[in-house]
Amino acid sequence: MTDAAYGGSNPDGPPRRVLEVTDLVKHFPVKKGLFGRSAGRVSAVDGVSFTLAAGETLGLVGESGCGKSTLGKTVLRLLPPTAGRILLCGADITSQSDRRLREHRREMQMVFQDPYSSLNPRMSCGDIVAEPLAIYGLVSGREKDDEVSALFERVGLRAEQKSRYPHQLSGGQRQRLSIARALALKPSLIVADEPVSALDVSVQAQVINLLRDLQRDFNLAYLFISHDLAVVEHISHRIAVMYLGKVVELTDKRSLFATPLHPYTEALLSAVPVPDPRAKGDKIILRGDVPSPVNPPSGCAFHTRCPHATDVCRRATPALREVKPAHFAACHLHDPAVSSAA
Ligand code: SF4
Repeated sequence: MTDAAYGGSNPDGPPRRVLEVTDLVKHFPVKKGLFGRSAGRVSAVDGVSFTLAAGETLGLVGESGCGKSTLGKTVLRLLPPTAGRILLCGADITSQSDRRLREHRREMQMVFQDPYSSLNPRMSCGDIVAEPLAIYGLVSGREKDDEVSALFERVGLRAEQKSRYPHQLSGGQRQRLSIARALALKPSLIVADEPVSALDVSVQAQVINLLRDLQRDFNLAYLFISHDLAVVEHISHRIAVMYLGKVVELTDKRSLFATPLHPYTEALLSAVPVPDPRAKGDKIILRGDVPSPVNPPSGCAFHTRCPHATDVCRRATPALREVKPAHFAACHLHDPAVSSAA
């Protein structure tokens, strides 16, 4: 199956493709002893492929430790990939030098979970947003001030807050500031890593609505990483479910919530709280924790926790295949060749 097949469908013709990730792998060496002897590797991202179009949000979900944040950082080349290919707006950035990558960095920005630790506490809020404009020499003097004021207004901050420092803002305002900084260079792609997890629920909704408005106005592509399925459902067009470094299910959000195909997705969805005390749902309780990515289980990595696991699951790794139109899953239950042989 080609990597193009992992993209979303668009009845009005193909939108501009912002990101194309093919068989992306990120391993970390495990060192032991005084001399740093190699003692294996952590397979944080293990052969992930997807595409992302302008104006589209791909949600990335999974338990902590499944590799979603590492995938986001590797896509942005904040971490060097071990293998695979990353195309950003058609340019291959997989192994570009820092100097050549600098031009492409304008196109891709990141919003972190904890804006407090990602903002320089010694810089005023105005200087934080102005910094990328100055680094790239885009505007200066009065023009720069006007640009910063416009960005503040666009994300819902007041002009007088330019002279404040990050610690003088609330959590929601700090995240708005991070978003303003990310927007300063007019990127095509924003990777948002748990951008609302640290915020109160009412503020979460405001920030999510802001991100949606900005996407509509600037045709931004978002890779939205979260462990919270309710948040991901609200903002995403398509959702990829990750388990131990691999995408195990990928489809549009309606299909994922209505007819999940992978047992892991079913378990995640059954754990989403329903705001109705009369609602009865059979919760699927997963046994144990996510296995160590240093020594992942053989075959399907989920077999140690899967209620449907059979012998073939312990032996063979299921490929991510298109089970229904634009609905991909990596599970032997949905592979006719394996099911009929079992
Ligand atoms: Fe469960 Fe087997 Fe499917 Fe893996 S391949 S999710 S173990 S049924």
